[in-house]
Parts: sequence; structure tokens; C-alpha cells
Amino acid sequence: MRKEEMFDTPKKKVSLDVTNLDNFAYDMSRCIKCKGCYWVEHTYMPGINFSVRCPSNLWNDFDTYGAFGKMRIGVAIQEGRFKWTDKLLEIIYADPLCGACDVGCKRNLDLEIELTLEALRIKAVKDGAGPMPAHKKVAKNITTKHNHFGSAHESRKKWVTTDIKVANKADVLYFVGCSSSYINQDIARATAKILNVSGTDFMTMQDEWCCGNTIYSVGMIEEAKELAKRNIEAVKASGAKVLLTSCAECYRMWKVDYPKMLNIATTDLGFKVVHLIEFADEAIKNGSLKPKKPVDVRFTYHDACSVSRLCDPWTPWNGERGWMGMVSPPLKRRRGQQGLYFQARNILNAIPGTKFVEMPRIRENALCCGAGRGTKEAFPELASFSAKQRIEEVKYVSAEVLVSACPWCKTNFNQAIKENGDSIKVMDISEFILSSLEL
Ligand code: SF4
Ligand code: SF4
Repeated sequence: MRKEEMFDTPKKKVSLDVTNLDNFAYDMSRCIKCKGCYWVEHTYMPGINFSVRCPSNLWNDFDTYGAFGKMRIGVAIQEGRFKWTDKLLEIIYADPLCGACDVGCKRNLDLEIELTLEALRIKAVKDGAGPMPAHKKVAKNITTKHNHFGSAHESRKKWVTTDIKVANKADVLYFVGCSSSYINQDIARATAKILNVSGTDFMTMQDEWCCGNTIYSVGMIEEAKELAKRNIEAVKASGAKVLLTSCAECYRMWKVDYPKMLNIATTDLGFKVVHLIEFADEAIKNGSLKPKKPVDVRFTYHDACSVSRLCDPWTPWNGERGWMGMVSPPLKRRRGQQGLYFQARNILNAIPGTKFVEMPRIRENALCCGAGRGTKEAFPELASFSAKQRIEEVKYVSAEVLVSACPWCKTNFNQAIKENGDSIKVMDISEFILSSLEL
């Protein structure tokens, strides 16, 4: 090809809009099956143990379940050569959308794997095939009771005990989330007490509804968008400057997926989205939180996907793709490098008396607990399998306590530990911080 021909390659309009699978035709068709999405880079690993990053493909050891398999299926669906079948739906939905493949792929090729997997589910729903029956049940719960579980809406604030001070009006709005409102109430109470001890006034929503994580994640984009608009309006009406979450999934929804659905940047939300990890890291640094009580345990930390590789802020992008797949204007890729890795470790290292040991797979390479994004509801055996794989890693470093920063991780790990008959204790980072505070 002559030089002038190279630069004359017709340009194609493209964007990051996940409602149109055509935007990811290039990403799907350029997968070279290198398996960077399956293996953790060997330079980081002590050996073959714990060297896989993809829970879906580890659970079902057939290439179809890896990102590389799904990219090939995606091409066939986009070109109209495959029709949806029960098996295809299983392949697309037996997947916690953990993002480990995305950051692995972007070390080499810059393909948008996570967005493609989301776009495939949105197409499955648009085509009338998805989501799975278990997901439809969650969607119904959200419509009728405004929470994931179908619990009584009027019980949502029952986690608030008399020793917790909630302001009527404050700059900080604590968005509690469904899991901590109904199932993991200790996390909500620990978060509230940390805010109280630090002297930070906070309010909660007058009428909090689900963040919509599951319905967004399974491709029900229209329903999720309505929920996003409703929730954003509620925060704006409250006058809050900071939206604080203790749930990793809520955090990713507010910070990344709401802006993505509404085609705005995270910075355009009109308020700041903060996870408790960020708040506590800052509060320890400025002295408003003083973890003084020794906590005598050997523990390890699990980087929950949605406060790590999935939480780089969102910026809309529209442009063109031309010669050799190059895009213009330049696209700042989301590589999972803005996760709350150091902030979490700053906090954990500030707690006296503990022995902190890291697992082999950490930060962007952490193995997902397997519960998220509709997996536990539709494929509980995959969620349990992935959690047990991670528990093996906890045992490998001989930790007594496993700390995470997501209530869904806590539930899933606890169930796996119970099934195994193990004695590892699971604590949320909020509970771990609280145990070191003098109240
Ligand atoms: S890392 Fe990317 S290019 Fe390599 S096999 Fe996985 S999806 Fe394909
Ligand atoms: S999102 Fe996670 S589980 Fe799904 S293909 Fe990628 S690495 Fe595997």
C-alpha cells in the first residue's frame, strides 16, 4: 500500500455508546486470542497457582466463556449470523462483568472489552431474548418495592439505631444501597458511626431507591436510565455536594454508569461521588479519624471490582476510526488505574496491631468474588465457585480475616466460607475501621 493510500483509508464514525453494538465491531473482530484477558501477567505471579484473572472461564474451562470467545460470538451476533439461544444467553450472562479481561487486554491492544460485554447484553434485551428470568424478578422488585430484594420499602431505614446521628440537612448525602439497608446493616451502621466520629454531618435520602446496578448490568438500559435520572434529581433536590457510598456497586453506578447512560461526564453530575474508602483515607490524613485501638489479627484485602478496575471516571467520546484502527480525536482509555488501591491500603496500614498480608492477585489483577452484575441471581454456582477460588488465596497467605469494601462481596464470601466449613472471618472495611476507633 502506498503511503498516501494508507492515510486515505475511509474513516468510520464511532463512539462509546453501549446501546449500539456496531460501535464495538472493531474491538470484537480484532481480538487475536492472545489470552491476556485470561492470565495475570506472569511477571507478577509467584507461579501457576492463582494465575487466572477470568472467573467465568475458570468456572467453565471452554474458550467460549472467556472474553476471546465472547468477542467471536459478538461478531456473529452483530453480523446477524447467530440468533439468540438459551446456550448463547448462558454464555453472555454467566459472567460477573468484573473488568479483569478489559484491563488485561488494554495492556496490549486497547480493545474495549468491558463495554462490548455490556453492549452485548443491551442487544440481547433489545432483541427480546435477555435478560435471564432471575434478573426479571429483580427488575420487578425494583419497580414495585424500589429495592433489589422485594423487601418492604418502608423498612429501608430500619438500620438506623438510636446511637447514630443523621442530620436533616448536610453537604454529605450517604446513599446506603439495598444490601446495606436490608441485609448487611452492620455496614450501614459502621459507615454512619465513622461519619459521626469524624464530626462529619450527613443526611440520607428522604426516599432512597435502588441504584439499579443489576438492571443496568443485565442490559435493561431504558429502565436503568429512568432510575438514574430519578436518583440524580433526588440528590440535586437535596442540595448535597457529596454523594457518599459504602457499596462498591453503588459507587460504580453513580460515578461511571449513570454518566455513561446519560451521555455526560462524571464531572458534570453536579456533585462529587465518594466511596467511604476515599473519605476515611482523607479523614485519617487530616486527623479527624484516629484509628487508635489495636486490632490483633492477620488479615488480607480483596479489591472489589467496582472500587478498583471498574471505577475510572467516565467521559463521553465520539470520533472516527481510520487507518490501522487508529481513532481521532485521541481517546483516553479507562485502564482501571484510578481504582482506590492506595487509599484502601493507606487506611488498612494505619490500623494499629494488625498484620496485613497481600494475596498474589491484587489491584487490577484481583479475582472477582463472582457475585456482581446479576451473576449471583442467575448463576449462583458460578458466584460460589469464584468466591471459593478467592478463599483459597486467603488461605494461601494464612489470613484470619478477609476485608473487602462491598456488601455483595461480604455476603458471597460468607456463604462460600460456610459451604466450605472454613473459619475465615469476613469484614467490610467500614467494620474494620470502626473496630479501631474509640467511640
Ligand atoms: S486479551 Fe484482548 S486480544 Fe487477547 S484474547 Fe483477550 S480479548 Fe482477545
Ligand atoms: S468480565 Fe470478568 S468474568 Fe467476564 S469475561 Fe471478563 S474477566 Fe471473565
